[in-house]
Formats: sequence, structure tokens, C-alpha cells
Amino acid sequence: MNYRGRFAPSPTGALHFGSLVAALAGWLDARAAGGRWLLRIDDLDTPRNRPGAVDAIRRTLERLGLVWDGEIRVQSREIGAYRAALDALIAAGHAYPCACTRTEVAAASTHAGIEGPAYPGTCRGGLPSGRSTRAWRVRVDDHAIAFDDRIRGRIEQHLESDIGDFVVHRADGIFAYQLAVVVDDAAQGITDVVRGADLLDSTPRQIWLQRLLGLPVPSYAHLPLALNAQRQKLSKQTFAPAIDLHHDDAAVPWLRRALAFLGQALPPIDAGRDGALAFAIDHWSIARVPTADSIVEG
Ligand code: GLU
Repeated sequence: MNYRGRFAPSPTGALHFGSLVAALAGWLDARAAGGRWLLRIDDLDTPRNRPGAVDAIRRTLERLGLVWDGEIRVQSREIGAYRAALDALIAAGHAYPCACTRTEVAAASTHAGIEGPAYPGTCRGGLPSGRSTRAWRVRVDDHAIAFDDRIRGRIEQHLESDIGDFVVHRADGIFAYQLAVVVDDAAQGITDVVRGADLLDSTPRQIWLQRLLGLPVPSYAHLPLALNAQRQKLSKQTFAPAIDLHHDDAAVPWLRRALAFLGQALPPIDAGRDGALAFAIDHWSIARVPTADSIVEG
């Protein structure tokens, strides 16, 4: 099968070092495989979007030389596709309406899952009388869901005990990331997902949805996270500095830093941007990518 990868930033701000690591690793993995690398804008979570972020992300990728293939997929233009997937889940009895607030879930939950209180199944058998639909959840079971991450090795989860029935359409009317990503990856024909390890715990939910919707399961590689001195993931919320490039050759020091973070051989400092990228493709080795997160200098 022809390799198709993707980079799917949320337009919450400019690219920072953590997003550069994800973009570069995905781009190199695709180019080293002679494959395609697509860009998607994950802008469904509208309250988090920032004006100008999409342009800033595009410009920075171009300056870095991380050029994508084909049209950009923008989630906010694909609402019909998420709606169709939700309708299919409902029609097959896999999704059900839920009236619970976060506080009610926490109060009724019998145990902690990996992302907070596991959903106790309150609305599984139907909405409690007098209550109306807030969100839609998908039913899970407790069989193991396992996959072989190309960096982390075998990963296994039991969705019922680790997560519980999870939300696919949120109480604020927004399609949940877990549903959208599965629809998008299938629509873009993605064979290989390379992304940050903050999404490792989401992958079994995505595989579950792929099975329910009859979609192919791509291969996954989860990259170590770049942390700040407080061991927080670099992000807009933790005020990670933006990568601001005024000319193409300013890209080389950033590319070298990201390659070092990824455990890769370093191109000569005077290689020039395109020379550095060509070197990085030739020397790309996913086996050298570390599994442990690490702190990076501001
Ligand atoms: N939009 C997500 C993020 O910026 C990435 C989604 C994905 O790679 O699956 O964290």
C-alpha cells in the first residue's frame, strides 16, 4: 500500500517546538517511504481556535520546507461527514444519548479510568425519565484492544474499565475529536499516523470506532513529548514560544534541534535548509526515536 501520512494541527496558535517535532517526524517518515504527507486543520473545537493561526502554521511549514501534498482538509467544512458517521453509529445501536453532566459522571463513577472517572453507564439503557440528551456516547466492551506502536511497542487497553462509554458528540454540539479523527483519517486514506504521545491513550478508542464504522486501521507511531522545565507538554496553554522564521535559512537551527530531539543524525550546520532536509530523509530512522519525553530549553 502506498504510504499516506498527515499532520493535523489545531489552529490554537502558531507552531511551537512540540508541533515542529510532530510535523518533521511525520514528514520525514512519509518522504523516506516515498509516500505522501497531507495537511489537515483540526478546527472543530471552535472556542480554542485563534484568528490567523492557520496562516501562521502554513507559513511556518513552508519556511521549514515541510511542504504537504494536495489540498488541505479543514474539519469545519466536513461536518456532514461526522454527522453521517454518528448517524451510522446510532442506527447500528452503537451510540446512545446521554444526559449526564460531568459532575454526575464523577459522582456515579465506580472507579478512576485513565482520563478521570470511568463512565458508569447511567444512560446506557435509556435516558432517565425527565432528562434530555446532552451528548452522544459510544458503547464499549472490556475486550482488550491492542496495537503495535512503531515507537512504543505493544499497547493494550480495556475500554470499559480504562475509559467507559465515551463521547462522540459533545454537550456543546461539537463532534468529539475521537470521532472526527477517525472519519478524517479514513477520508484522507491515511496509512500511517505519526503524532505526539499525548494521543497514545486515545488510539484504542479510535481503533474501536474504526471497527464499528468498518474503516481501515492505520499504523501508529507516537513521538516523545517536548516538555518545559515544569514538565508540562509544550502547548499554547503552557505559553510555548512560537517558531517565528523570517527567512528559510533560519529553519536549519530549528530542524537540527528537532532532529536531535528525535535521536536522529544531524546535518552539517551549513547544509542549507534543503540540504539539511535531504540529509534528514536519507538518515531517518524511526528506531532511533526515544520513547521517553524530554525537557527542552525555552
Ligand atoms: N489536532 C490534534 C492536536 O493538535 C492532533 C490530532 C492527531 O494527530 O490525531 O493535538
